[in-house]
Amino acid sequence: RQRILSGMQPSAGSLHLGNYLGALVHWVRLQETHDAVFFIPDLHAITVPQDPAELMQRTRTTAAQYIAAGVDPDRATLFVQSQVPEHAQLAWVLNCLTGFGEASRMTQFKDKASKQGTDSASVGLFTYPILQAADILLYQPDGVPVGEDQRQHVELSRDLAQRFNTRFGETFVVPQPFIQKETAKIYDLQNPTAKMSKSAPSPAGLVNLLDDPKVTTKRIKSAVTDAGTEIRFDREEKPGISNLLAIFSSLSGRSIAELEDEYAGRMYGHLKVDLADVVAETLTPIRNRAEELLSDPAELDRLLAKGAAKARELAAPTLAEVYARVGFLPAA
Ligand code: ATP
Ligand code: MG
Repeated sequence: RQRILSGMQPSAGSLHLGNYLGALVHWVRLQETHDAVFFIPDLHAITVPQDPAELMQRTRTTAAQYIAAGVDPDRATLFVQSQVPEHAQLAWVLNCLTGFGEASRMTQFKDKASKQGTDSASVGLFTYPILQAADILLYQPDGVPVGEDQRQHVELSRDLAQRFNTRFGETFVVPQPFIQKETAKIYDLQNPTAKMSKSAPSPAGLVNLLDDPKVTTKRIKSAVTDAGTEIRFDREEKPGISNLLAIFSSLSGRSIAELEDEYAGRMYGHLKVDLADVVAETLTPIRNRAEELLSDPAELDRLLAKGAAKARELAAPTLAEVYARVGFLPAA
């Protein structure tokens, strides 16, 4: 079986419909056919200032949502990054193989740092893509399912793997980015030309997995729509309605064309009411299951500790080989 690896930052309490349709749904499918490694990158979460109690809570909440959405901790390897020290250990070695100029070309740092003022941004935020390369290379995955925004970081991990192999001998599998073309990109309900994002300036345009269904229904009913009255898929002229149709289609499995036919001659409000029902049908069981898991944090922590032990079995041999190749004296 080919191995794949993916993770999602615990940067908010709840994941949103974009995270679900753009990532989780695919993970759940991939774990059937692949040796799947899924993790919660909490080391990455402290590259920007964090509240400790909140981080702990968000890490558990993110894990609970992975499982509630269908990630199976028995089938896949599911763990929290900070519980597998090999990530930070390999990151140091890779830091020493990365050029300062090379790291400076990573566009995500420029975007994120400019939000807080480049001088006050942490060095951790600067080296974030190198830690991400370590996350990937430790597990020798064949593919890394990521969104288009992560392509540059996967490229860096390929460069570092090749560089290490050339300088110290064949050690790493050179990973392939696995950009999912068919992935639905979900847009903000209030600003349908911007992607739905955990760090959106306002929550009004988000459909969150853990929100009360009443809140979600209200947000869908208040979604920005377009001039005119026709229910038709057209990203240029009708970004609002097109986003609602795309969400409807992804969740119901019905084609956009079929939905356009069904809603021909009807009003925007009809589409919204029906969409709110479809969203509630999908999200209610996920929310209930997540709440059940979160009601017993000790059990959830045990499950994650088991996952971390499984992950270390995969990661430790890679790190041991790296340490030996760079010339570190064996510890034992
Ligand atoms: P942040 O604002 O903190 O960057 P985010 O909402 O963009 O959060 P990420 O943690 O960056 O979420 O992404 C997690 C996964 O969800 C990635 O695989 C990403 O491609 C996917 N994803 C995020 N937003 C969307 C979206 N609006 N539509 C489809 N997929 C998305
Ligand atoms: Mg993002």
